[in-house]
Order: sequence, then C-alpha cells, then structure tokens
Amino acid sequence: MDEIRIENLKIFANHGVLQSEKKEGQFFYINAVIEIPLGKAGRTDALNDTVSYAELCEVMVKEMQAKSYDLIEAAAMHLIVHILSEYKMIKRITLELRKPDAPIDASFDSVSVRISRARHKVYIAYGSSMSYEKNGKVIESPEIIEGALKMLSDDPEIEIVKKSEDIVTEPYGGVAKNMFYNGIICAETFYEPEELLDCLHSVEKSYGRTRDVHWGDRTLDLDIVYYDHEVIKTDRLSIPHADMQNRDFVLEPLNELAPDMVHPVLHMTTSQLLKLMKKCK
Ligand code: AMP
Repeated sequence: MDEIRIENLKIFANHGVLQSEKKEGQFFYINAVIEIPLGKAGRTDALNDTVSYAELCEVMVKEMQAKSYDLIEAAAMHLIVHILSEYKMIKRITLELRKPDAPIDASFDSVSVRISRARHKVYIAYGSSMSYEKNGKVIESPEIIEGALKMLSDDPEIEIVKKSEDIVTEPYGGVAKNMFYNGIICAETFYEPEELLDCLHSVEKSYGRTRDVHWGDRTLDLDIVYYDHEVIKTDRLSIPHADMQNRDFVLEPLNELAPDMVHPVLHMTTSQLLKLMKKCK
C-alpha cells in the first residue's frame, strides 16, 4: 500500500498521569505512517485525490491540545480513531507517540507507544428471543435490537453501513422456546477482531445477556459473521462464524446485503450457501 509519512511532528500538550504534567505541559513527537492509495493523485496532480499532509498535521496538533489524557496510549488511540473517521480514503494509520521528557528517574532518550489500526468491513448477526426488564419497564425484542444497534452506531469505532430487514424465525438448536427476531448489519470498524467481540459482549451485557443455557432463549445475541475476508481461529473466536452455513436466520438476511460475498473457507457465495441449505433441509 502507498504511504504518506509524517516524521517528528512536535506538539506541546498536557498529557500525563501527574498533575504537574497536566498543568505545565511538555513536548510530544509524532511519527505517522498513513496507508492510502496514491496512484490517482500521482497521475492527476490534484489535492482532492489525496489527503493533505498539512491538514493532517493541523488536525493532530488540534486534537492533541483539545483534551488532556493520562496515557499516551489514549492520546494516540484518539488521534487514530479521529483520523480514520474523518478521512475515508485512509486505509490504515500507524502512529508512534513519543514523550522524551516523561517524568522517569533514569537516563533515557524517549518513551513511546506505537498503535496501528485499519478500517475493516464486518457483518454482524443479531438476534433476540426474550424481553428484558430494566427499571421496571419491559423491553421487547424489537426494541432491544433497536437499542443495541444504536449503541453500536454511537461507538466512534463502528459505523453501520447497511442493515437487513428483521426476520422472525423458529428457535434453533432444540433448547430455546420462543420465536427469534434476527437480522444482519454490515459495518465498518477500526476494532481488531477480539476488540470487536469485547464490544459486542458489552452491548449484550447492557441488555442483561447471560450464558447459563447453551442455545437457550436470549435477550440479545451479537455474532461476528465475517471480518473482511479473514479466517480467524482463536480460543474466543471462529470467523467466519462456525455454524453460519446451517442457519437460515443468518443466510437469509446476509443474502439481502451481500449475495455475492464468497465464504473464504467454503468458497461459495451467500446465495449458493442459502440454496444448498434449503436443498438439504
Ligand atoms: P454465543 O453464546 O452464541 O453468543 O457465543 C458464545 C461464545 O462464542 C462467545 O463468548 C465467543 O467467545 C464465541 N465465539 C466464537 N466465534 C464467535 C463469533 N464469530 N462471533 C461471536 N462469538 C463467537
């Protein structure tokens, strides 16, 4: 991928755990590698076809000075999320934030953090088959889903791009008793896969999700179906979602949003998977 690089951008700001750091401030230095396709601008010579490095420097100075963070991790992450949100042409940003005058009682040149994040396209399946009582008010499944999707779209690291129609389906797996409301969203996110899973779990938790009965009725279920075209197997995650090809409540709404998307392991499109599943039923 092509890159714009900014080296040793010097910014006076007030980040640090100590009160004295917040009060007096110090100099910070940024190295940023911005991954962005530059072929078009290289040929047209038009600023509109790229992102202005001068503007990026101004934005970084402004955002570094707008708020005081305890941690350089938080300051760096804020810059990354802000820049990826504002400049859609940028695919990835790797940012190093250095603090050469950190209050450390030792001899050193500099301390720094380096964080790299990119935009990713994800498909998230949602489902609910149980109401949830909050502050004496009963919230039914359609409202739970609406609230959960609002929480996701309010997250600065998630942008919902498309949403399927909700469908109402029979319980799956022989344990749950109620009808399920299901659907899929396509979203853009800057989260890494496990970070996205943590975010989904915290939204589930805010609607009282427990995991006492496997495959039982649930107030809210949020699953990652696809994360770009990646194949991921960890202790906590299986992507593409392990059972998606057998679930009509995943394939039907996915077919509405992405009929031609190819499953990276089964090498079949959503519409082919749906046809096959119906044939085998
Ligand atoms: P569930 O009860 O269906 O929400 O799933 C329980 C567990 O499945 C979660 O705690 C995850 O660690 C794990 N899991 C594995 N793959 C996925 C995925 N693609 N999306 C969401 N959860 C997953």
